[in-house]
Amino acid sequence: MTAPSSLPADFNEFIGNTSVVESLRTAIAAGHLPHSIILSGPAGAGKYTLALLLTMAIQCERQPRDLWSNGQTLAGFCGHCANCTRIASAANLENQVAAAVAAREELRETDKKDTRVLIQPHPDVLILPPDPPQLLIKLGQVRTLIQRAHYLPAEAPRRIFILTSASMMKEAANSLLKILEEPPPTVHIFILAENPGELLPTIRSRCASVRLGALPVEEIEGLLITRRPGVPPAQRALIARLSQGAAGRALAFDLETYTAARADALIFLRNAAASSRLFGSSSGLQAAVKDHRREGASAPGRSQADAAAESEPDHTALFKMTETYRAGAEGQQKTAALLRALSLLLEDLLLLDAGTPELLRNTDLRPELERLAAALPFAWIERASHALDQVHSGLRRNLLRSLSLDAFAAQLATSASA
Ligand SMILES: [Zn+2]
Repeated sequence: MTAPSSLPADFNEFIGNTSVVESLRTAIAAGHLPHSIILSGPAGAGKYTLALLLTMAIQCERQPRDLWSNGQTLAGFCGHCANCTRIASAANLENQVAAAVAAREELRETDKKDTRVLIQPHPDVLILPPDPPQLLIKLGQVRTLIQRAHYLPAEAPRRIFILTSASMMKEAANSLLKILEEPPPTVHIFILAENPGELLPTIRSRCASVRLGALPVEEIEGLLITRRPGVPPAQRALIARLSQGAAGRALAFDLETYTAARADALIFLRNAAASSRLFGSSSGLQAAVKDHRREGASAPGRSQADAAAESEPDHTALFKMTETYRAGAEGQQKTAALLRALSLLLEDLLLLDAGTPELLRNTDLRPELERLAAALPFAWIERASHALDQVHSGLRRNLLRSLSLDAFAAQLATSASA
């Protein structure tokens, strides 16, 4: 079994949040690491990577220590023993989840239903990712955790469980709460959360909370210079801002895909701005949604007229764009990228409204963003952000993708003219 490990070779290679990492290493060395920890931070901040490094430090056969002159002892890991290498084999979470899901697909229908996606790189380490397609942690997964937590570790000092998301089914959360109330002494549970507010307050109160903060733009730029030297300076500056302080996101940032998604997101905003100027009180875009549904995709006469008048909302462009978003895994990814881009653009519009243009992320679009900010009222941008949240939760519930995009377009139009 080979594992293309992208894990840092030691804690010093983990980027950012130095003092947080040091305090966790000190706690491990002293044997005081809390049994349940919520590790929170934005996507790409390194939550999963850090959870694996801490797991290696707890389970390593050699238990190396860094001794500082001030008397502080920090736990490390060797990276070569049987425990370290097995844990490191789970470094690529996406591949591991894809393999587990594919294995489940091979099962008979009756078995499929009862099989939960779990990743076990080591007999004493169990990773619980959100179970597709709903992408929530399910009761069956937490039941397995509880069952195994009550056995003593077999080949390492502790039993470790990593929940890679804070989104769980209600029954799963209630069940998890029970083990958090009285965790067995040999168990550590890490819950990775982009938004800890998603967790029950009773779960939060029983866990230690550790937050990985966003890194400053300059630090991310410096990282890009050393790790992605091929990226031209202008693109580097843009990526550093768009990755929102998350080192992992910056290193993996695909500017071309983002720019394509952003071009589509801008169609939404241009339409809304045009609607807002044209229709003081009516919901122009909503009416167009109905027209479009009646007439089908081709209405050449009308669309040319629309496109000709620059200040009018170009519904044709909007629908041509939403129709390129197909159902299925690929469509979901494309939709997710569109929504991320849209949410960054809306945040930029809010920053312009707030008089803090120096914080803009899409710095290359500043003139157009300023025009949009002038055309769209502050209250509209806030409502659009709210509507965007709803589309997000619709996606999570696996609703028909095109349905939620159309509904979102209609909602934007209604609120633009409200
Ligand atoms: Zn080791």
